[in-house]
Amino acid sequence: MSTDKQDDGAMRLRWPIEDIVAFAKRYALTHGLLCLAPDTVDQATIVPFSLFPSPYSYSHFKFIWSIQIAYNRLYNRVSLDDEVLEKALSSVIPIDDFIARLWKIHRTSKRQQPIQLDIYRNDYMLDTKLNKMRQIEFNTISSAFAGLTGIVADLHKAVLHYAFDNCNVRELEIGEEKEKSTSTIDLILPNNALIKSAEAMIKAFELYNNPNACILFLIVPNERNICDQNALIDAIQKIRPNIRFHSKTFEQLIDELFYDEKTFNIHLKPSNDEIAIVYFRAGYIPDHYVNENCWLIREKIEQSRAIKCPTIRSQLAGCKIVQEYLTHDHIIEKYIDDKTLSTNIRSTFASMFTFDDQQTREKNINILRENVHSYVLKPNREGGGNNKYDDDILNTIKNEEKQLINYIAMEKIFPPVCTTCLIKPNGKHVLHVECINEIGIYGTMVTNVDTNEEHINEVTGYLVRTKTTDTNEGGVATGYSVLDCLDVS
Ligand code: ADP
Ligand code: MG
Ligand code: MG
Repeated sequence: MSTDKQDDGAMRLRWPIEDIVAFAKRYALTHGLLCLAPDTVDQATIVPFSLFPSPYSYSHFKFIWSIQIAYNRLYNRVSLDDEVLEKALSSVIPIDDFIARLWKIHRTSKRQQPIQLDIYRNDYMLDTKLNKMRQIEFNTISSAFAGLTGIVADLHKAVLHYAFDNCNVRELEIGEEKEKSTSTIDLILPNNALIKSAEAMIKAFELYNNPNACILFLIVPNERNICDQNALIDAIQKIRPNIRFHSKTFEQLIDELFYDEKTFNIHLKPSNDEIAIVYFRAGYIPDHYVNENCWLIREKIEQSRAIKCPTIRSQLAGCKIVQEYLTHDHIIEKYIDDKTLSTNIRSTFASMFTFDDQQTREKNINILRENVHSYVLKPNREGGGNNKYDDDILNTIKNEEKQLINYIAMEKIFPPVCTTCLIKPNGKHVLHVECINEIGIYGTMVTNVDTNEEHINEVTGYLVRTKTTDTNEGGVATGYSVLDCLDVS
């Protein structure tokens, strides 16, 4: 909903905006839209969110929803194709120690577990130049916020009822046709990202076939996003109360993980709980491996019989350089037989190029230098805050040209601007500010990579992150964006 509605006689705000902000914050606090406050272990604070849902094109949303199952399959197959992974990563393996180590563990680990569990999030922005959805990135590790995104939809429904007279909010099943005249109705889309992620994890747990085993969440030290993670644990335990969970950091596992070389099982000391699934919410940047022993833990997990979410090969498939490689001719068509689907997936690719090929390097540097505001420089890292824009790009070309090989250049997408109110902790809300949206589509897969059986391949839910137009980076955990939801009326 646009906050302009308050200027429309029929949809006047019923309360001063500060009252509505207070109402929304109370809702967030009582419904667990929370994370740990910085530098505390037992104080919660709200996760930043938008006061009203952002207006969005339903047809664009339905389009990215409709291709997600094929996208899941594509990334699953790429992750299983060593030849293509090696080709795509060939320029960075010799120069990027982090990728090289992951690659080495992958290549030296014999697979003991045919079941692969993936929780993906495919992020997009609407490109105003072409009026098309364009992919920003495909996350294969630690796809966060499935546990919180559904709360925002419920919060927005409650806020709209509270804030406006004659308010008519309706949930529209995704795919359902809209009625002709919906101008006075706010249409919110349901979000099953949480329950469907839980179901995928339960399916993988069943396939592991030891009801007494546990699920390990591998987390970062001082993890703040605990409500998001615990929502997933709660959702699983509601269905399977007997499954045990542990949350451990790499460093804790140095003392507590036991790897049985005969059975390839891993256990947690001192309980001796056998681990059925390792769910990685850490391990996607070099800093998470504070010493060599952390790398040994990663290696043991990869070599074990536990189901990994994700495997190292799946993590590597999510590298930005692989995303660039998939835009080359005739690559995705190898994995997707259906011509319409491969064309549709291709239509979401932004233009990208790299700097590893001697023959095109100079030309690509020149393109970048002369069109610096039209590109984003992205390294093979995750978690936000790593990209370069504008003057930073020029400085890199000028002072560290050799470093360019660590980056891909990606066409910058300019999404439509909407006006919204951003609610942040400690009264730092910003009212009526110009913003843009990034939409993530969650997908889950449980596959048997020996038989190619897809036990689960689903499109499960969505994430909306909104940030002011003057912010380049994204990410809620990094403080750039807020959680949001869509009004597709
Ligand atoms: P990360 O894995 O660190 O999240 P992303 O590719 O998502 O990396 O980049 C971080 C943020 O940078 C995105 O959330 C988005 O806001 C912005 N961004 C990335 N690529 C583009 C692009 N091509 N055009 C516009 N903004 C982009
Ligand atoms: Mg990412
Ligand atoms: Mg991202």
